[in-house]
Amino acid sequence: MKKFQLGFFAFFIGNYCFGQNDDSLMIRHIADEILLHSKAYDNLYDLTKNIGGRLTASPQFYKAEQWGLKILKQSGADKTWLQECLVPHWIRGGKDQADVIPGKKSLDVLALGNSMGTGAKGITANVIEVKSFDDLEAKKDEVKGKIVFYNYKFNPTFIATFQAYGDAVQYRSGGPSRAAKYGALAVIVRSMSESVDNNPHTGALKYDTTLPKIPAVAIGLRDADWLSLTLTNKKLEVFLKTGGKFFPDTIGHNVIGELTGSEFPDQFITVGGHLDSWDPAEGAQDDGAGVVHTIEILRAFKALGYKPKHTIRFVLFANEENGLRGGTKYADEVKTKNEKHIFALESDGGGFTPRSFSFGGTAEQLKKAQSWVPLLHPYGVYEITDGGGGADISSLNKNLKIAVAELAPDSQRYFDYHHARNDVFENVNKRELELGAVNMAALIFLVDKYGL
Ligand SMILES: [Zn+2]
Repeated sequence: MKKFQLGFFAFFIGNYCFGQNDDSLMIRHIADEILLHSKAYDNLYDLTKNIGGRLTASPQFYKAEQWGLKILKQSGADKTWLQECLVPHWIRGGKDQADVIPGKKSLDVLALGNSMGTGAKGITANVIEVKSFDDLEAKKDEVKGKIVFYNYKFNPTFIATFQAYGDAVQYRSGGPSRAAKYGALAVIVRSMSESVDNNPHTGALKYDTTLPKIPAVAIGLRDADWLSLTLTNKKLEVFLKTGGKFFPDTIGHNVIGELTGSEFPDQFITVGGHLDSWDPAEGAQDDGAGVVHTIEILRAFKALGYKPKHTIRFVLFANEENGLRGGTKYADEVKTKNEKHIFALESDGGGFTPRSFSFGGTAEQLKKAQSWVPLLHPYGVYEITDGGGGADISSLNKNLKIAVAELAPDSQRYFDYHHARNDVFENVNKRELELGAVNMAALIFLVDKYGL
């Protein structure tokens, strides 16, 4: 009896203080459902171990499409379908190789996504190190006929590691063409990471089509440091061999499941992650986590008997990594069909402990979303920050002014794995993964209930 009175008192105080007790109870139900019965971790195992790396247009990608369709059905979607889009078809074309001459020390490298291969004979040339684009400009007369080594480091003073990535990634995406402009034969880029191992981290480059498309590889950080140190007192020749090439664009698909809205079936909320991933790994953190978050929200809503007011779309996007064609196609179709979308949420920051959401919308929408933070805080999200949203849903925001958000988990370990061979299932923690789905489901529930 005493216990009951205490419980009642607490309930009353809670209700009085916050006026959000129904919402906090519902979010507690969502959290309990996911923490007790989640299929996210098992689904991630299945996707990473039984399919593996899922580069766009690879056999594994098409297998993943069918897998996604099946699981969305099993998880209770009212409707599922494949949304066709044209996707690029790049292949690595074998093992990438970089050997120092003389000495034959092998450097641990991975060709950058979308880069052209060296040809069967490979390229042998002297290496010139540059620390930045300014440094490249200063040395532009020495670059011709050489391999340019971009050795720009992640800035460790950025607390959010995505800031360091944003700062450094220009050397991966634009570095090869900038070097080609001055006659470089190939490029080696310091990996986009600050890990303590030597795994190279691939990722897409973007050629300037007016310049020669020279081969480019990422190099592991220990080898990058060795190369830099060795180049301080002697000249080094490197033999580089890569086999990257493009086939003509082909057909790929976004995989979509839907829960039909009970009050506003013609108004949509989108939640998603991207199904494709880089080939040398299993795509567990990037973005298997986002895929299984998305599916888990659907499963939990169905298990709870939750009937959304708006139609909720669960989308596994195609081709985020080397083209963004899936996200672009999705937004194009929203526009063509003149659909009314009120919100889109993405998970593409890994399956780590949730910390916040980044948010792209008007000041008023942001303020409304921020008013829900006290409801999310018990599950990890302590702030909603201005700006952001996730690559696949970016054109919904940019071109169609739809409010977007992205789950922002703790970022300290993300670039230890991002696009590297160790982005595997074993490096995802079950509970951290599940808490991401809890916070996302809670945010979707609040937007569905109150709008934005
Ligand atoms: Zn990603």
